[in-house]
Amino acid sequence: MLRVVVLGAAAGGGVPQWNCGCPVCQAARTEHPELGSTQASIAISADGDHWFLINASPDLRQQLIATPQLHPRAGKLRHSPICGVILTNGEIDAIAGLLSMREGWPFTIYAHPKVLSILEANSIFKVLSEKNVRRLPIEVDKTFEPDLPDGSPSGIEILPFAVPGKGAWYLEGEVHPSGKDGAGNTIGLRVRDKATGRYFYFLAACAAVDDDVKSRLAGAPLIFFDGTVWRDDELIAASLGNKTGQDMGHIAMSGDHGAIQSLAGLDIARKIFLHINNSNPALLIDSAEREIAERAGWQFPADGTEIVL
Ligand SMILES: [Zn+2]
Repeated sequence: MLRVVVLGAAAGGGVPQWNCGCPVCQAARTEHPELGSTQASIAISADGDHWFLINASPDLRQQLIATPQLHPRAGKLRHSPICGVILTNGEIDAIAGLLSMREGWPFTIYAHPKVLSILEANSIFKVLSEKNVRRLPIEVDKTFEPDLPDGSPSGIEILPFAVPGKGAWYLEGEVHPSGKDGAGNTIGLRVRDKATGRYFYFLAACAAVDDDVKSRLAGAPLIFFDGTVWRDDELIAASLGNKTGQDMGHIAMSGDHGAIQSLAGLDIARKIFLHINNSNPALLIDSAEREIAERAGWQFPADGTEIVL
């Protein structure tokens, strides 16, 4: 049995974002606190006792407090059921939470060498001492099985694969610490329970649905998919920023080449948007955009939602 807990569903900044007065953020601060959401991350487990995070958001501390499954077990002076963190990119909202995991508990970071090089190039991550925190490289198109603290297999098989995307925005115009360009900036994951064969896909960042993405996701029991913006020029149109979704490596929900249209008719049993920016009008429950998305079968998870596959 594969358990998934949505720790957070929002894109960078969360909902509400500290400096944002957009309609969604304002509503979340006032009459609709239920719109509040922390930055995107999920936790997975095959046995219910040992958990792995997929990405570690800046809101991790708050997310762990809110998630009983991830609390220290009763009677233990120092303990965490978290055995590892799998990173799918090097953006701040995927890696900054690692800094909240610095209190001496051993765990393993699994990431593409491109992302590991970002951690290595930023000395602040040295607070995660090599003695306690292993950093293991993962390769695209090669499955791996994270292990438990005693070295035994977790029962979770993970297949990383390259998806259309962009490098971390704070490195734009800079030399990447890994020294060269290429794949690995943005990866998707297929996460499979070895005992049951049940699986899901995780693509919190994806710039386009190409034929490769389509053929992988077709027929999946569950997908978590990039829901950053409703339309590509949303931030510009709302005077919230000067970048399009594409500039940031994110596909729009709407439009002929958007996620809703591109992933229609692929026999995907359950489709959940993740990494949803506070500018996205589909977050408003009574909006026309929300209705279009839900009519197409898409769901918007509340933080803390647990799914058993
Ligand atoms: Zn906002």
